[in-house]
Amino acid sequence: MTRTGIGYDSHRFAEGRPLILGGQAIPHTHGLAGHSDADAVAHALTDAILGAAAAGDIGSHFPDTDPRWKGADSVGLLRAAAALVAERGFRVVQVDVTVILERPRLGPHIPAMRATLAEALGIPVDAVSVKAKTNEGMGFIGRGEGVATMAVATLEVR
Ligand code: MG
Repeated sequence: MTRTGIGYDSHRFAEGRPLILGGQAIPHTHGLAGHSDADAVAHALTDAILGAAAAGDIGSHFPDTDPRWKGADSVGLLRAAAALVAERGFRVVQVDVTVILERPRLGPHIPAMRATLAEALGIPVDAVSVKAKTNEGMGFIGRGEGVATMAVATLEVR
């Protein structure tokens, strides 16, 4: 038996912050604002995994009011979410992520993002898909104000 979860996250671009997506520091003029490292890829994926297990969401497990998570490495939160669902009898089988942003181009960073996420989840890299696209200049993403990410996770009941 399998379970499917969906996750979504968005963060606003801010000056003086590193741009971290999928655990990679990506050279850019701006980073993303947030309490943690604002890794929208890790956050959406964490919510997808928790969602598939009906185990709450990232805010309930890692609240941004908790100083422990200030500046946190969000890949660590993802790893913790995978461990949490494992304790409840699930195994992450496969994940798929779409990152929507106007700039920078993420193509060159996708292999490293997939490898980092696969390692954190303890699954093969060919079970981790990361795709990037622009918003064709429309809306807040099109104006370069921020980034949005969508993710889907499939879990197997052990
Ligand atoms: Mg977030």
